Amino acid sequence: MDTERHFRIDLHVHTKRYSPCAETLDPEELGEEMVRKGLSGLVLSEHDEMWSKEEVRELTGPFSDAIKIYRGVEISSCDGHFVVIGLNDLAGLQPGVSIEKIIAVAQLQNAAVILAHPQRNVKKTCGGAGQVHWPSGINAVEVMSTLTKNENEIVAREIAAKSNWSMVAGSDAHSLANVGATYTVFDQFPENEKELARMIISGRGLARRRKP
Ligand SMILES: [Zn+2]
Ligand SMILES: [Zn+2]
Repeated sequence: MDTERHFRIDLHVHTKRYSPCAETLDPEELGEEMVRKGLSGLVLSEHDEMWSKEEVRELTGPFSDAIKIYRGVEISSCDGHFVVIGLNDLAGLQPGVSIEKIIAVAQLQNAAVILAHPQRNVKKTCGGAGQVHWPSGINAVEVMSTLTKNENEIVAREIAAKSNWSMVAGSDAHSLANVGATYTVFDQFPENEKELARMIISGRGLARRRKP
């Protein structure tokens, strides 16, 4: 990858606007925090809620094109949590939906499906104990976040290699301090979430941990 052109994008961030568990993360503070930490972009991936385009535009307004905030969602499926990027809306994707349904909707809209925090994704409610066989159509796995232990990265990378998924990272931040702690580097700055999804699907990102 060309080291001169790299864009750090945190693929997994919660805020207090739509994730009650992120009560200290005020989205109004995100822009400055991104600039301070050298993040080019981040994805708002609230639990089962999506920001409107207008809301995001308001948030990034003062920063012109220096940073981009993309719309995503973390879906609480009955097969665990999945971060989906590139959806137009959440039609048909209510909490408790199956991963097969998520994949079907995502493929119609060219959205990327990312298995979040694989080691924590064990509380299945849609039949059987722990998932052993994932359906095809999952594009990537989150190999690092602030909610997973560092040693879990090895296991996550093994899962990715076995399943032929690309490896990405997002912070899963629920507080401002954690934004950008882990992120994915791309060699191009995606114009919008559809383009970001395309880059994730084609495996063009590299998972990275922010140096302390
Ligand atoms: Zn989660
Ligand atoms: Zn999350």
